[in-house]
Amino acid sequence: NRRMPEYLERGVDVKFTDVAGLGKIRLELEEIVKFFTHGGILLCGPPGVGKTLLAKAVAGEAGVNFFSISASQFVEIYVGVGASRVRALYQEARDNAPSVVFIDELDAVGRERGLIKGSGGQERDATLNQLLVSLDGFEGRGEVITIASTNRPDILDPALVRPGRFDRKIFIPKPGLIGRMEILQVHARKKPMAEDLDYMAVASMTDGMVGAELANIVEIAAINMMRDGRTEMIVSRSIWFLLTTDDLLQAAQIEER
Ligand code: ATP
Repeated sequence: NRRMPEYLERGVDVKFTDVAGLGKIRLELEEIVKFFTHGGILLCGPPGVGKTLLAKAVAGEAGVNFFSISASQFVEIYVGVGASRVRALYQEARDNAPSVVFIDELDAVGRERGLIKGSGGQERDATLNQLLVSLDGFEGRGEVITIASTNRPDILDPALVRPGRFDRKIFIPKPGLIGRMEILQVHARKKPMAEDLDYMAVASMTDGMVGAELANIVEIAAINMMRDGRTEMIVSRSIWFLLTTDDLLQAAQIEER
């Protein structure tokens, strides 16, 4: 039975400014950071919109430790193993409080009980029960908050979303035009971008894309620039050519494929 510290991250340096296109959601999250009293928050939304990044930013802004695990890692073949993992995780979180526990893909374990037949279902139910017990253990104490992500809030066991558990749902939709522009700009911060780069043009060409894909576009453009030899080394200092609107548009086409 493995211990959990490999999921612990101290000194998280992600901040809200690293997560773009949040709009009003940001205010809600700032409140959570300020009071740090809430038991459970459910981040709902499609893959790649920045749920993990956001959970990390909450820990980074609050200056607390961050534990993350994917719920699918809880579920084991042997009955009781998942439950003991949940217990160990919360023990660690408590020992390292204040902390944020982030559970990715909550639906993997939080699906309504009894829907799965056979022994796999039994293990999953035991794991879910332990998670409920662990969530309740922090009631009103505000030293460990749990943030979970799912793109299927509709299939979660009703017990999970009861008051005091994951009673706060925050929906993170795919970014709109302005959101996409802001996400591209966040990822451009650490890259050599042309000053006149038309982020709006790239945002208009990437309708339907999420943050993970937009981040990828900036990466691809930078990699293409290196591959083309568009950097020069002058004594140990590299002088970069600047990335242009065209570079990003080309990268967007590659990402789309
Ligand atoms: P999944 O459900 O697939 O785990 P997710 O919603 O948790 O997806 P993240 O893993 O947080 O998405 O996003 C992957 C990467 O995409 C982030 O590390 C970040 O680089 C980029 N990204 C996603 N959304 C945003 C955003 N709103 N602002 C800035 N970067 C973003």
